[in-house]
Amino acid sequence: MDSGGEMVKDCIFCKIVKGDIPSDKVYEDEKILVFHDIEPEAPVHVLVIPKTHISSLNDVQEDNSEVISYIFEKIPEIANKLGVDKSGYRIVSNCGEDAMQTVEHIHFHLLAKRSLKWPPG
Ligand code: 5GP
Ligand code: ZN
Repeated sequence: MDSGGEMVKDCIFCKIVKGDIPSDKVYEDEKILVFHDIEPEAPVHVLVIPKTHISSLNDVQEDNSEVISYIFEKIPEIANKLGVDKSGYRIVSNCGEDAMQTVEHIHFHLLAKRSLKWPPG
């Protein structure tokens, strides 16, 4: 299980963190990276990821959860930077097959600037 490794070969988001695959960055610090989704589902659609490899929500545990809480501390700041804090936004993390997770490096979608439907499809 990849519960808190540094870097996983063949993981596209680890490659983005490393700079091997380019990305349109919104925010970066020593722990996390935020970049625009390559196939946006809303006028604002960014992905918030930890720089360390955690495969999905199923792999969050006591020894790697600090970066997850850090992500949630940073989300208000990121939303403000994107100019969506007042209009609103949705955070989504797809976990596993039924949720259609396609990249196995935990990520939080931030979607905004349109009226988002509920329940999601
Ligand atoms: P998931 O389907 O796992 O919840 O979300 C993966 C997201 O990553 C998708 O929205 C997809 O468009 C995005 N994505 C996949 N590959 C790349 C890439 O190479 N660059 C960027 N910026 N986004 C990607
Ligand atoms: Zn990874």
